[in-house]
Amino acid sequence: MRKKRNIWLFVVVLLAISLLYAWYERSISEDGIVIHVIDVGQADCAVIESPDGNVIIDTGTDASEHIVRAYLQSHGLTSFSYMILSHPHDDHIGNADMILREFEVERVICAENQSETPIWLNFLRLMEEQILCGDLVWVKPDIGDVFWIGALRIEVLMSPSKDNPGENNDSLLLRTDYGDCSMLWTGDAEHKAEEAFLSNIPVERLCVDFLKVAHHGGSGSSSESFLQAVRPQLAVISCGQDNSFGHPHEETLRRLEAVGSQIYRTDLHGSFRLLCNGKEFLLLSSVHENARSVWR
Ligand SMILES: [Zn+2]
Repeated sequence: MRKKRNIWLFVVVLLAISLLYAWYERSISEDGIVIHVIDVGQADCAVIESPDGNVIIDTGTDASEHIVRAYLQSHGLTSFSYMILSHPHDDHIGNADMILREFEVERVICAENQSETPIWLNFLRLMEEQILCGDLVWVKPDIGDVFWIGALRIEVLMSPSKDNPGENNDSLLLRTDYGDCSMLWTGDAEHKAEEAFLSNIPVERLCVDFLKVAHHGGSGSSSESFLQAVRPQLAVISCGQDNSFGHPHEETLRRLEAVGSQIYRTDLHGSFRLLCNGKEFLLLSSVHENARSVWR
């Protein structure tokens, strides 16, 4: 009789634990945002998925078109409140035209660059067509601009002046916040831009939990003084496997380790997703690892 009671007790406890776990999983996924870092080789492409709208930040090279399309479709990411382009280099805007054509985009945030590349000029033409039809708004960012998508806050910390040539150092610097979690998006900004960030932006605005490491981990970016200000717990590097630039450079990795950053790289981990519930980041999945890690 006693043995039977113990078995019932065990079943009830097990059921309660399962229900609690299911409730926890559902509540954080309903409340949180998911950051998708998409493996597009030697390029950048990330999505912030939120219950109130999605943001895509850079779009990879045109060579990765099928990867980006398949990734977005397989994760149900069919519409974007904002498409943000850090600067007009091919490895950041390569699929911007495909996304405008095949996905729903409400607004594009990018500077009025003076780039003459065919990819940029094609994209401008397409953007102007959609603006004329009333389907799209072009937001030309200014320093201090703030955009909200539900509880997700996007702030332009640094924006290039009008008619900039769109080089690496003209990259947009964005900060995104969700609850207590903060993220910094740097495009390909190099040391010269970082010096400007340090002299123009209060250190407390630069200090974040998550850093999209600039310029694919190249040593011409992520200076010691910049990283000392940012001090990210989580550093994300988007670069191609065995790329010809040798990215990420050893010096960059050492500087990130020196400030205590945990480093995630698309060349090693493939595409991965991070859940941010407003308090911490949780690694949901990566192509090459099954590990579940938490950063607070
Ligand atoms: Zn780049």
